[in-house]
Amino acid sequence: MKKVLAFDIDETLNVAKTPMTPDMAETLAECMDYFQVCAISGQKFDQFLHQLVKPMGEAGTPERLANFHLMVAQGTQYYRFDVAKNDWELVYSHPLTDEEVEQMTAALETASKQTGNWYDNPAGEIIENRISLVAFSALGQAATPEDKYAWDPDMEKRKSIVAIAQELAPQFEFEIGGTTTINVCRPGTNKVFGMTGLMEQLNVTKEDILYFGDMVQPGGNDYPVVQMGIDTIAVKKWQDTLFALRGILGVSK
Ligand SMILES: [Mg+2]
Repeated sequence: MKKVLAFDIDETLNVAKTPMTPDMAETLAECMDYFQVCAISGQKFDQFLHQLVKPMGEAGTPERLANFHLMVAQGTQYYRFDVAKNDWELVYSHPLTDEEVEQMTAALETASKQTGNWYDNPAGEIIENRISLVAFSALGQAATPEDKYAWDPDMEKRKSIVAIAQELAPQFEFEIGGTTTINVCRPGTNKVFGMTGLMEQLNVTKEDILYFGDMVQPGGNDYPVVQMGIDTIAVKKWQDTLFALRGILGVSK
């Protein structure tokens, strides 16, 4: 019997960068009655609130949220809900230095310009400092889902950017995620870092965890979780996750 359900966010719980639907939000909240639940992604804390916590509405009771673990920026920042304060608490954080941020930013910008993938009129920032990682979103953070899906469905554009950026800044780890995203971090601060932190915090083993992700192929940002030997359910879209959770809740009640 698993003790922990852990989830990638974009395309696993919701359409990229958008809130979970009400049925998904309610089902995820209900899982917190039976399991410790973790969400892990390269995104910022604000996005965790916007996409996951707020959509739960009244289903997200303090008692349930106390079982919800937010592994922000691939788990280099860990938040949990403090019932007494009725608010989220930052338990730990591993920020990058200014110099590291500059080196990552320069490598991404140069590589995307060299491959013809640098957009002059993005919807929002292309390169964003997320404290413990730097994220590249080719069309800008605020591009529409339609534009994002159409941009690089076979990941070839991002692979070509990563190939050059990795040569420019070999001291860092580059990872493809989402629909237009490349995350850069210190080596080892991928999802393995976050899942290892989660196991320490919850005092559980790999065998206790069931993980859901949509980028489980080699090079994808969920692949490190597969590699570390955590049981993983590969989904193509968030509806697959909803279907699986309804089955899990069906036998948990
Ligand atoms: Mg994903």
